[in-house]
Formats: sequence, C-alpha cells, structure tokens
Amino acid sequence: RKHDQKRGSSVEDVIDPPPVNMKPHAVPVVLANNDHTFSLDEEALRKVLLRDEVKDRYVVVISVAGAFRHGKSFLLDFFLRYLNSKYVLKQNTSEWLGSDDAPLEGFSWKGGSERDTTGILMWSDVFLTELLTGEKVAVVLLDTQGTWDSKSTVRECATIFALSTMLSSVQIYNLSSNIQEDDLQHLQLFTEYGRLALADSGKTPFQRLQFLVRDWRFPYEAPYGAVGGQQILKKRLEVNENSHPELESLRKHIKSLFTEIACFLMPHPGIKVATSPTFDGRLGEIDPEFKENLKILVPMLLAPENLVLKRINGQKVKARDLIQYFKSYMAIYKG
Ligand code: GDP
Repeated sequence: RKHDQKRGSSVEDVIDPPPVNMKPHAVPVVLANNDHTFSLDEEALRKVLLRDEVKDRYVVVISVAGAFRHGKSFLLDFFLRYLNSKYVLKQNTSEWLGSDDAPLEGFSWKGGSERDTTGILMWSDVFLTELLTGEKVAVVLLDTQGTWDSKSTVRECATIFALSTMLSSVQIYNLSSNIQEDDLQHLQLFTEYGRLALADSGKTPFQRLQFLVRDWRFPYEAPYGAVGGQQILKKRLEVNENSHPELESLRKHIKSLFTEIACFLMPHPGIKVATSPTFDGRLGEIDPEFKENLKILVPMLLAPENLVLKRINGQKVKARDLIQYFKSYMAIYKG
C-alpha cells in the first residue's frame, strides 16, 4: 500500500468522523518502504489524534517494541482489556482480566499482510482518563515492529525504535528469556539514533524504559515481577573496575538517556499459549502464574496513578501536537 506523504499537510484541525460501526483496530502510521525509506500516514494519524474529545488533552504514549513473535500482540490485548474496562472504577480489582472462557477477541493487533512489515502501529481508540490530580489525559498505544535479519533491516529497526522512543513516554522493550548483551547493543544503537535527532536541550532526552523479559526461566535466581527484574537489570547494567571500557560506556550511555529504567520478569504463559494453533487467548488456558503477574504488570503501567505524561524538552504534549512531532522526527530520517 502506498502512502501519499503530501496529503493532509494543512494545519487545519478538521477530520471526517470515523465511520459508524468501525471496530477499534491497529492503524499503521509509520511504515518502512521497500527502498528503506519511511512513510508517515498523516491522515491516519490525524483521524486518531484530532477527534474533538482527544485533541486538546495531554497524552500518555505507551509503546511496545521488540522483534516479531515474542508475544507483543498478546500483551497489548491485555492492555486493551484493562483500558476498556473503565478501570477507574475498579482499579483495585482484577475483574478487568475477564472470565476464564472469554477469548481475547476483537483486540487483535495482527494486521494480515501488514503483519511482518517494519513500522509503527497506533491503536485507533485513544483512551480518556483522569490522573489523580484530576487532569484529563489521553492514553495512546503504539506497537513497534521489526525483524532483525539483515543489515538493512537492522538500520530500519533502529530508526523505528528511535522514533517510537522519541514519541513515547513509556517504551516497553519486549525481550525473550533474558537481557542479552546484543539487546543492550541494539538499544544503544536505536537510542543513539534518537539522541542525535533531538536538539540537545540539556535535559534527559527520553522518559521511562521498561524492559519486559518473557519466559523468564530462573525464578530461583531472581523472582518474577519488578523486584526480580530490578535485580537482573542491576546486574546487566552494573559497571565495576573489571568491566571492559566498551561495555562500561554502553551502560553509562543507556542510563544517561532515560529518566527511569525498570525491568519486569514474566513467567512462561504455558504450553497452550506458546504452541497451540487453535489457542484463542482464553484465560482458562493460560498458566495461573502468568495471570498473577499480568495483574501486577498491567496496572503498574496503566493505572491512573502510574501514567507518565509525554514530555518533550520538559513540556507536556497535547494529542494534536503529537502529529507535528511525528512529522518533524520523520523528516530527520528521510532518505
Ligand atoms: P508478536 O509478533 O510479538 O506480536 O507476537 P504475538 O503476540 O503474535 O505472539 C506470537 C506467539 O507467541 C503466539 O502464538 C502467542 O500465543 C505466543 N505467546 C504470547 N505470549 C507469549 C509468551 O509470553 N511466551 C511464549 N513462549 N509465547 C507467547
């Protein structure tokens, strides 16, 4: 599919209302082209961010990044369940998780032929909620996808990861089984792209980085959840007098770029989730330990008291302004 970059460049905040009966869905907003350039679908972005009830709110932008087939969509489906459950009313319960036999339907992020395309998807529904201060905000979800199988796609992924890190207030780095040295190297590469792109304002350029390790297999070494995650993160980011200077600079660099870095260790969801072709996401078939940890992880990221407003150069960003940031950050990576 071609995206016309010239379309919709007027600053006028007029959009067509979304068609009635349009189911919420993942909207590709940034896509890598075959020639390794990128396209922004500005019109699609405007449709999501310029709705009357959305455009003047400050935004919380939650992005999930990482390679394909490591359970990102599955996780995002649970984010949607939480956000769809009018959670303000039941923030201390776990009713949002739903009943045991309800499939995770209607929230799929799997986009047919777009499936294996490197790019950024935005959920068409923006969630409106209030912070504890009473401030009304809009929560935007991004799915950032890439494959890492060749040199050119590594560059593409770095760009996509950099863009989503610049545009989000929370970047969730979804990893399989552990935080490996090459995950940190990739992270440095992507964030270096991002840092170079931002004018040096003297402020820490990015906000919260949340490592999410899936299928953690060593709970006796570090327990599942945020505490175990912190232990592993500390180990991986530690520098001591014996560290190789290159490893040391990599770690210092990563720490200097984010105001907050956290890690969460998720257990394996169970054999049905990982291998069954007919698995439809129903809770009854997911390991209890996985569900217990979802009940901790999801509110930790999305409960009103934990939402992080997107800031650029220290200033809060409104939904309508986010469009301009997409455009100007994209312009940096043209060609
Ligand atoms: P995505 O490409 O990263 O969005 O991955 P999906 O969410 O589509 O998941 C890919 C496959 O992994 C599906 O069959 C899921 O049921 C399964 N899956 C989801 N979460 C996990 C997990 O935490 N661990 C394992 N081993 N598999 C998972």
